[in-house]
Amino acid sequence: MKIINNKISGDYHLHSSTISDGMNSIDEIVIQAGKLNYQEIAITDHNQEYLDSYKFSANTHYSIVSSGRWKNIHNDVHVIFGVEADLLNENGDICNHIQNIFPEFIILSAHEKMYAGNIRLIKKGYLNAINRHGSKIKLLGHLCSNQFSDHLNTEDIIEIVLTANKAGIPLELNCANLVNQKTCEKNLKAMLSCCDSLYVNSDSHTLFEFINVRNEGFNYLKSNNYI
Ligand SMILES: [Zn+2]
Ligand SMILES: [Zn+2]
Repeated sequence: MKIINNKISGDYHLHSSTISDGMNSIDEIVIQAGKLNYQEIAITDHNQEYLDSYKFSANTHYSIVSSGRWKNIHNDVHVIFGVEADLLNENGDICNHIQNIFPEFIILSAHEKMYAGNIRLIKKGYLNAINRHGSKIKLLGHLCSNQFSDHLNTEDIIEIVLTANKAGIPLELNCANLVNQKTCEKNLKAMLSCCDSLYVNSDSHTLFEFINVRNEGFNYLKSNNYI
């Protein structure tokens, strides 16, 4: 298993208060990324359907971010603006825009509130989404969240991971979910047993998580002999 982002190369799953439900602005996150000596980060705020369903509103036009009017004035950290897209149903439909702008760096995740299809067919949803949108998906986010663990057994996880491997899509160790007991560990171990490449991401919504949870993730991988 290849780890794509080591401890200091960067973190590719972050939420801001500028656009979605993080507690810190883009600038605050970037300043902290500099203090962590990261080379690169991806700020991957939630997609528009997610924002609408929770009645979150952005604090600015996303075009200000996407058109390059925002620039990193703090440090040399390279900042990617992406999106955490949602799997919407078993057909593999996804929502991957923010204010009708479609960022290139796409994490595909499923969240219970957003998945409107037949929950028993969620595996089919993942497989269809990979087949239909695989070329633009940069990684699958928190596949082993316990939100869906009643409907995804270890064989389902392995089938999704092997399909992602074939499509060249990395998986994610979601460290906030790991630390906050939102992970089905049985499924996580199944995923780690067969995935080709892995992002170790914080999915942070607070600076505390941004600073700390990836360390916990690396400790978990080490103590279970994955690295
Ligand atoms: Zn998520
Ligand atoms: Zn997230």
